[in-house]
Amino acid sequence: MSPLRLTGLTKRYAGTAVVDGLDLEIAPGRCHGLLGPNGAGKTTTLRLALGLIEADAGEIALLGHPMPCGAALARRKVGVVPQADSLDPDFSVRENLLTYGRYFGIPKAELERRIPALLEFAGLAGKAEALAPSLSGGMKRRLTLARALINDPRLLILDEPTTGLDPQARHLVWRGLRRLIAQGKTLLLTTHFMEEAERLCDRISIIDHGRIIAEGSPRGLIETHIEPHVVEVFGEGIAGLHNWADRHCDRWEQAGESLFCYTHDHLALTAELDRMGSPRYLHRPASLEDVFLKLTGRDLRD
Ligand code: ADP
Repeated sequence: MSPLRLTGLTKRYAGTAVVDGLDLEIAPGRCHGLLGPNGAGKTTTLRLALGLIEADAGEIALLGHPMPCGAALARRKVGVVPQADSLDPDFSVRENLLTYGRYFGIPKAELERRIPALLEFAGLAGKAEALAPSLSGGMKRRLTLARALINDPRLLILDEPTTGLDPQARHLVWRGLRRLIAQGKTLLLTTHFMEEAERLCDRISIIDHGRIIAEGSPRGLIETHIEPHVVEVFGEGIAGLHNWADRHCDRWEQAGESLFCYTHDHLALTAELDRMGSPRYLHRPASLEDVFLKLTGRDLRD
């Protein structure tokens, strides 16, 4: 059974569909990523899935329960990591876990039994008695993650779990998430970090304007939508290379001072650039970010 199935899901605000007939099915035991520019409808989709807001049309089955009427039953087996940490500042790390667990009606003795393993998982074993505000940003995120696991959920829903973290802290969160995937938990996450999606997700849905515009594995999306090699040419004078790029690239885009040349034959392209002597360039394999920018554009979204 799919832990989450959305069918024809639609949500309108002021007459505009911000989620627009969206179909999505999450496979059990896998990590599914929702990618999309700001305002694409990711958070609204998660809030609908959790029964926090009501849809205008469509169906939601969360762990087999129709939403929102089955919310009380479904949420007992779902963990949520919201975008912003919502820890209780008056409580210690341990007390935050205890009080959150009590919302699920889990007996105190059982919570006391679960907490050491959760603290260990979050790398907070030495911080059990520290007050929440004294923790670093990375520790707070890991505590929020541990808190979301207090009810031993089958499905974990994470809204931008590593936004605002430095690279070291981000890697620690990724390690935790990989351990959860290895344990067989299902993860649904939104992220703006393509590397995060590429590393963690088995399957990715790219959303824009409330609709899914592409879906597949990270590798599958790259193979389907983009040329395998990118040569980034940069520096002054690249505007004069447009005709050159027309002749030598399968496809190209200019963004700021960089010309992104997409190609199947990077050797021919870089040989040509070497022959010209300038400008500078960088060759790399195509990434999920290239797919994302091709499908959703390079314009800023607010
Ligand atoms: P994302 O998470 O992809 O950035 P959101 O789901 O937060 O996108 O928002 C999608 C669109 O819906 C945005 O245009 C946003 O302004 C709008 N929106 C979200 N929540 C509300 C609300 N409560 N009232 C009105 N508009 C909203």
